[in-house]
Amino acid sequence: MTCLECNKELNETDHRKSIDAFGVELCDPHRTRIEKLVQINDTPIEAIQLYYALKEVGVYTMLEWWDGKKFVDLAVSRVKLNIEVDTEYDLITHEQAMKDLEEAMHSFKNGFTTIRIPHIVIKYNLYKTVNNILGIVEGLKANIKVI
Ligand SMILES: [Zn+2]
Repeated sequence: MTCLECNKELNETDHRKSIDAFGVELCDPHRTRIEKLVQINDTPIEAIQLYYALKEVGVYTMLEWWDGKKFVDLAVSRVKLNIEVDTEYDLITHEQAMKDLEEAMHSFKNGFTTIRIPHIVIKYNLYKTVNNILGIVEGLKANIKVI
């Protein structure tokens, strides 16, 4: 049991608090930092889990990245990939769907690719989700090289 950010050994209390809150191992200061981020941006817990799972396989993302217009849940800057974790897609209205489409259009125009991932696939199949994102990152990297 060590903190995923600083490798500090976690005691039982910190371990429990962190796992209960986010499902990942974080020491007290690092857990507090994530708690603040979640409070400010309403970040889905699954975005935090995905952030650390990707970090583990060597894909470094930025949490709550400001793209100039809005905060993006996760961004892989070197391949210009934005990842949004959707939590309320089952209640989506046509207005929201159109807003999402327009946002995707704007980010494509700026050279960014946006993917939207329903939070349940992270919750129930984190491993497969990570593998698919790895594939997308590889694909984008290959395309960047071609250009
Ligand atoms: Zn730490």
